[in-house]
Amino acid sequence: MIGKNWKKLLTKSNYLLGLQCHKLVHVKLYDKERIPSPDDSTMYRFEAGNIIEAMAKTLFPNGIDVPRDDFVRNLELTEELLKKRLSLFEPSFKFGQTYSRGDVLVPVGENEWDIVEIKSATKVKDINLHDVSFQKYVYENCGLKIRKCFLMYINKEYVKHGAIEADKLFVKTDITKEVGDLSVGIEERIQKILDVINNEIEPSYEIGNHCSDPYNCPIKKECWADLPNGNILEFYKKEKIQCFDLGGGKLIKIPKVPDFYSEGKNPIQKKMTAIRMGENFEKHVFQNFFQNLTYPIYYLDIQTINPAIPRYDGMKPYKKIPYQISIQIQEYKDSDLTSVSFLAEKDEDPRIKFLNILKDTLGDVGTILVYDSTKEQSILKGLAWTFPDFKNFVGNITSRIKDIWGVLENFHYFDIDGNLKSHIKYQIPKLSNINHESLNVRTGEDRGLDFEKIIFTDEEIEISEINETRDKLEKEGLRDSRDMSKILEVFYEISKN
Ligand code: SF4
Repeated sequence: MIGKNWKKLLTKSNYLLGLQCHKLVHVKLYDKERIPSPDDSTMYRFEAGNIIEAMAKTLFPNGIDVPRDDFVRNLELTEELLKKRLSLFEPSFKFGQTYSRGDVLVPVGENEWDIVEIKSATKVKDINLHDVSFQKYVYENCGLKIRKCFLMYINKEYVKHGAIEADKLFVKTDITKEVGDLSVGIEERIQKILDVINNEIEPSYEIGNHCSDPYNCPIKKECWADLPNGNILEFYKKEKIQCFDLGGGKLIKIPKVPDFYSEGKNPIQKKMTAIRMGENFEKHVFQNFFQNLTYPIYYLDIQTINPAIPRYDGMKPYKKIPYQISIQIQEYKDSDLTSVSFLAEKDEDPRIKFLNILKDTLGDVGTILVYDSTKEQSILKGLAWTFPDFKNFVGNITSRIKDIWGVLENFHYFDIDGNLKSHIKYQIPKLSNINHESLNVRTGEDRGLDFEKIIFTDEEIEISEINETRDKLEKEGLRDSRDMSKILEVFYEISKN
């Protein structure tokens, strides 16, 4: 029975955690304090997920919400409500030590049911199939006859015109076959995880790609704490697979990477070679970079948000909305910078204003320097698709964009002894004399979250709070664009060596 053994119940979310890592599910059940509380952006994503779920449920007429706040009551109510043969939201079932609560159960015919799981993603993922296969296992063992399984998720091709149409915003895909395939061997998988959670001794572990797949593990900091600076896992994600394979699960500090891995042309190999030869930059790349710069130089930073539910007409789900531009203009080498800044107001669609400000500021000539051109190019091309009148203008400015990240990403320049990550947050303190610690550089996601909190809310917010947030965002944007000019100065000095 549930009683004092409640923590040993294998819920759907614990099953999924257990599939990712046995240690993780054990810590969650026996030593939860080690798991940090979700940060603001995670909480925000939860809330956004709840809004999406509520919208999807409107597509099931006469559906009954089974209250989820009381665990035992939810089980009892589910049993009672099944007899009504109506769609049930959040029904729960317990079979032995397993417990599952899904999103929707839909009655079919006289005695069958369909499972519908709602997700805020735009495609079916393996983890979703495991999720539904666990539900099906528990439901069927509780005596339910399951006919089909569906995943309901965001239709990325939906374009908003007027009010959101829930029936077009979501797509429903039949995943019965895939779930059936995964049901093979599910008992063994469940038993393995039950063995872990029934044992008070924490299982041993090895770090690996599973630490961020399918989710970033919340205790990664703890398990990865002993890694030395400059270890090869500081390469970006695409390199990690090779890194783990290389050491058979063991970690290798960069200077100790075997020679066979130091040959070839990909970034990690180039870096190995350069370390052996004691060089940390490629002169010809720098010379080429400077030959292709034309003054005036515009240091451009664009910040965006990408809400799942489109906010403005002509938008698709998760399309980026630029809400902030920060530009520093340098007319000629060593001249002072002049700055232009724009931060969208509440209740306005910022996109046209954004394009007009760029048009007025960037002129027809001069290099537009950004940190990562993939981001800026995709924002601008997305806007040109929505507003074809700006197509020529966008064509002009995208052809003038160059980025700094390419130099760092491809290790044309790097810090041999330090952190190898190429994000501006790590590069700035190395490439300039700015005291990085005092800057408290925040991610674009955190900044976007601050913006959404003051813009897309029905709550009353004090004007002083709004002004404080706006002021902070504007300062951060201008600082980013100014930092790019400082990196360029450093590159220039390096290229003279
Ligand atoms: S960091 Fe990796 S090894 Fe450690 S608990 Fe998480 S998934 Fe498991």
